[in-house]
Amino acid sequence: MQAILLEKPGQFSPITVSEPDRPGPGQALVRPHVMGICGTDVGGYLGKMPFFGYPRIIGHELGVEVLEIGEGVQHVRSGDRCSIEPYLNCGRCYACRRGATNTCQFNQTFGVMCDGGLQERFLIRADKLHVGNGLEFEQLALVETLAIGCHACDRGGPVAGDRVLIIGAGPIGLAALEFVKLTGAEVTVMDLVPSRLEFCRQNYQIAHTIAYRDDDSALEETSRITDGDRFAVVIDATGNHRSMSAALGHVAQTGTLVYVGISDQTLQFPHVAMHKPELTIKASRNALPRDFARIIELIAGGQIRTQPWITHRTNFADLINDFPTYTQADSGVVKAVVELC
Ligand SMILES: [Zn+2]
Ligand SMILES: [Zn+2]
Repeated sequence: MQAILLEKPGQFSPITVSEPDRPGPGQALVRPHVMGICGTDVGGYLGKMPFFGYPRIIGHELGVEVLEIGEGVQHVRSGDRCSIEPYLNCGRCYACRRGATNTCQFNQTFGVMCDGGLQERFLIRADKLHVGNGLEFEQLALVETLAIGCHACDRGGPVAGDRVLIIGAGPIGLAALEFVKLTGAEVTVMDLVPSRLEFCRQNYQIAHTIAYRDDDSALEETSRITDGDRFAVVIDATGNHRSMSAALGHVAQTGTLVYVGISDQTLQFPHVAMHKPELTIKASRNALPRDFARIIELIAGGQIRTQPWITHRTNFADLINDFPTYTQADSGVVKAVVELC
């Protein structure tokens, strides 16, 4: 059976792997139909992801069909369409015992820390399958990205009427935008890249956009847009340490700042910048099982439209050739998907 292996940064190879076993207790055998390409995959290809191990079969954003279930599996049946929650948590650590499975100390993200979905069939823990029979496979493949934004929005906790700033209009920022809009808050988006801001203005009725610059002009824009109040909630989805450090300046008194992007650098800001306005600073990691179920319902109900997201498509045969395009900032990629069968 076919698979594609990321042997090392910059090098994919087509390989043949052995057919998976029959599913054991609690497992399911699935066939992936569509895989989303994530910033994590691009980071792995570029050799910029600290968690990534090589060689690796990538793929964690997946719309799959259940082929066979193992003993004791109740909530899915063969033929079901599902989205995969790729965070393979341990179920025993402190975080897992408290229900914070997204921060499991021993988490192994499928397709990042162990082999993932870029193969014809594979076995998966059935509890990580979220059924969405009314959805297209490509919609199911987008659920995980949306879940990251859903969780980040929940961490910030905006309510109707709040002013919210999202910094970074890549897929995670856009995912957060979807959920902030559902709360009835007023959204402003900030990004370096003019075409991304244009994409936001065209596809979402957002209040304002701010062009990010490394000077005080963005702070002045914040002040102008909010009549000097600044934003009740700021979600930084850049993963850029300079943006993350500067983000405090956009938060209102008693406001909340959420970091959903990840940086391996040190953040720097004067303590008074958080103390005087009594800010709450939070991280947002992965997502919770309930987020997957909620998103499947929202897509089915038409409250979230996935169609503007998919800008590029490829398939099993062309992926290796097409992948380098997706690593280029000027390629206009919002989301690329791979049709696997
Ligand atoms: Zn992802
Ligand atoms: Zn755990």
